[in-house]
Amino acid sequence: MNLKLQQYINGKWVEANSGNTRTIINPFNQEVIASVPEGDESDAKAAIAAAREAFDNGEWASTPATERGAIVRKIAEFIERDKEELAHLESLDTGKTVEESRGDMDDIAGVFRYFAELADKDGGELIDSPVPNSISKVVREPVGVCGQITPWNYPLLQASWKLAPALATGNTLIIKPSEITPLTHIKVFELMEEAGVPAGVANLVLGAGDTIGAELSSNTDVDLISFTGGIVTGKKIMQAASVNVKKLALELGGKNPNVIFADADFDIAVDQALNGVFFHAGQICSAGTRLIVEESIHDEFVNALVERVKKFKLGSGFNEDTQMGPLISAEHLAKVEKYVEAGVQEGATVAVGGKRPEDPELQKGFFYLPTIFTDCTTDMSVVQDEGFGPIITVEKFRTEEEAVNLSNDSIYGLAGGVFTNDIAKAERCAAKMRMGTVWINEFNLYFPHAPWGGYKQSGIGRELGKLGMEEYTETKHIFQNLKPETLNWF
Ligand code: NAD
Repeated sequence: MNLKLQQYINGKWVEANSGNTRTIINPFNQEVIASVPEGDESDAKAAIAAAREAFDNGEWASTPATERGAIVRKIAEFIERDKEELAHLESLDTGKTVEESRGDMDDIAGVFRYFAELADKDGGELIDSPVPNSISKVVREPVGVCGQITPWNYPLLQASWKLAPALATGNTLIIKPSEITPLTHIKVFELMEEAGVPAGVANLVLGAGDTIGAELSSNTDVDLISFTGGIVTGKKIMQAASVNVKKLALELGGKNPNVIFADADFDIAVDQALNGVFFHAGQICSAGTRLIVEESIHDEFVNALVERVKKFKLGSGFNEDTQMGPLISAEHLAKVEKYVEAGVQEGATVAVGGKRPEDPELQKGFFYLPTIFTDCTTDMSVVQDEGFGPIITVEKFRTEEEAVNLSNDSIYGLAGGVFTNDIAKAERCAAKMRMGTVWINEFNLYFPHAPWGGYKQSGIGRELGKLGMEEYTETKHIFQNLKPETLNWF
């Protein structure tokens, strides 16, 4: 592997202070693919100090926005140039198909390009002043030192949503990938160095959440925390971040409803219901794992899903015909198994799957069969909890109102979908569904100019779009009196 396999702190590639390392394994066969430094609080502190100095000396924040944008654009170009290598690394590390990783790399380059273009488009605005002979203007400035923490499911994609806007707006940063999927983060730091990101501006620390992640969240030299991951971790970070009232952006999980009306185009709805869940073995925050199907087509719809699911090809992400790879780790596989067991105990019916595959070729990998649960009700844990695996639960509804109520019966509010050919009905449902994204006759489509984030416990703030840029800025009002006079008040 032609990678530095080190941390990147203050413009230097470094081992962990402790000298400790962690082995990274391929979830398809458990082979060791790399050994990387296992940093701890002391490495995080060194990176925070570097980012603080790089912000406080003012050089990066005062670099013309057009120049910062040009550097971010170069990163996009280098990602395109090295797309095959990046896609290969991502698939090795996560087990997802290389075809999917290639798609991720296209999306990632698009994210860097989008924020590069936005870099010099906000010169502030003049606002009306109530005082004659005065100027009142609103400007945006970088927040400062940003801590960024990413999950293992879409490692570099999630990182790109944070790195690109933070750099474009003149912040400095420390990013910590999930400890089990650091490889594409390392590669992109090589590309950022090549693109000319100055020393100290962007720092990469590798290691565990409860050491490095906790330090980033609680250190008073960090001004903002942007976190993508699970709800339990998100709550811990909120608490830790209160120490200096850090700005917070949280992208947490989802248990996302997908409502199928009887008047939808049947074949398209079946196809999209599958696509909405089984990419990357269902390990997607926005997976449409909660199908809510109109009673009159329920049985036919479930049968069609089951027939398609039985034909899925599981295997190595590097085989051209593989449709679904393994889950990320033994620990996660065990969690998914427990989640399914709970569903069975609560009375849901396994229509297909519900166990590990028996194929001898898959025994070394963390595989789980694509699973569909029927006879589900809202009180079941499989309907309420995020399984984060290849699992769909199916509920029935009779009326539009019931469909909306079921969709909203959740602590989450990340995303949802509606399939129908009645456009007015679709718009009525979209208006009432309490979530950050609603897709109509579509599921799981992202693009850089549309904001992404959750209602309710799915998070705080937005990534992507103009709002994703604004998260990394403070807003300042500057008022100037051009003709000051004594007030004679006192
Ligand atoms: P996780 O919460 O276990 O870990 C996420 C990151 O947080 C990792 O880097 C981890 O090391 C770190 N971390 C763990 N404990 C920490 C602590 N105490 N302080 C600070 N950081 C800590 O999540 P995961 O298992 O890696 O990812 C899966 C979760 O991510 C799912 O719940 C999924 O829905 C969510 N996710 C959400 C989105 C979104 O856009 N809303 C996108 C992708 C994933």
